[in-house]
Amino acid sequence: MHSEIMSSGSKVLYASQTPFDAQRIGAAAVYCSDGRFGEQMDEFLHKGLRLPRYDRVAVPGGAACLAGHTCAYHQKHALDRQLDFLIREHGLSRIVLIAHEGCAFYRDLWLGLRTMEEQQACDLEKAATQILASNPKVEIEMYFARKVSGLVTFERFGTGEACSCGVRQSPPVSMSVSRTL
Ligand SMILES: [Zn+2]
Repeated sequence: MHSEIMSSGSKVLYASQTPFDAQRIGAAAVYCSDGRFGEQMDEFLHKGLRLPRYDRVAVPGGAACLAGHTCAYHQKHALDRQLDFLIREHGLSRIVLIAHEGCAFYRDLWLGLRTMEEQQACDLEKAATQILASNPKVEIEMYFARKVSGLVTFERFGTGEACSCGVRQSPPVSMSVSRTL
């Protein structure tokens, strides 16, 4: 079949080895765009969680932008809308949020006394709360991807409770003003 697709006269440059399957799995994963973790994320979702054909939502910092950091104000609204769309149109019932070690999203964030990992756990809790507020029927799972001995391990993640780290939930005045210009 492959040779038929690639037969002379065709404009096809490449044909996948993976056949197309029209069935949706009803799940999405939100993780960071960082391509160094891409293959491992896929492997974990496919083999570890048994979610073939899951919907990929890869954005810088993953779900961290839903936590209310003022620097990600616009990303938050974009991701909110994207998730609402996928939940509605693709019939999602399960959403997997994955943070990763050394995420560049946190490089310029003020962490106070928290470690980056503590902040990431807190942010995923907030992101989950945010998603559930408008989509109370979806199930949300949280994981952390860690570099260990040249591989990437995945573990359950989150603080297990509502976080009170004080991330500002509303936009600063300057952001509000700029939006009205
Ligand atoms: Zn990242």
